[in-house]
Amino acid sequence: MRRRQFLSASLAVPLAYAAESGTATVRGKLTQLEGKAPALETQEHKFIPLGGDLATLGVLQDKRLAGVDLEALGEPSPGGAFQVGPIHTKAMFVHKDGSRLLITYWCDLCSIRTYTPGVCWCCQEETAVDLRKPEAE
Ligand SMILES: [Zn+2]
Repeated sequence: MRRRQFLSASLAVPLAYAAESGTATVRGKLTQLEGKAPALETQEHKFIPLGGDLATLGVLQDKRLAGVDLEALGEPSPGGAFQVGPIHTKAMFVHKDGSRLLITYWCDLCSIRTYTPGVCWCCQEETAVDLRKPEAE
């Protein structure tokens, strides 16, 4: 009886831990509901609210990324939410057509790359979402 309880409790935790770094990973569909924190909907249809620094939240709230298959690295926080790693750790990936792609933003005019949505600091044009393979970084 005790053993069974232990098993079901461990299965309920939708987090996988990467052994080498101690960083946790969550993956699911990025959902952006009005007035709520961005969240991941896992394959088990659980919603994990996501938090992070301002630049990270900018990415998570980018309407162009709504519904993507998102993988986030970071730390679970109390209450079932998940704290995504700081923006400089490049902790967010989109899975698309079998590739794991880093989320970046690109100004074609100035050839300037950033990691959060907004206007280009050079020409003030809106930057475009540019998903790239991490090896290309
Ligand atoms: Zn520019």
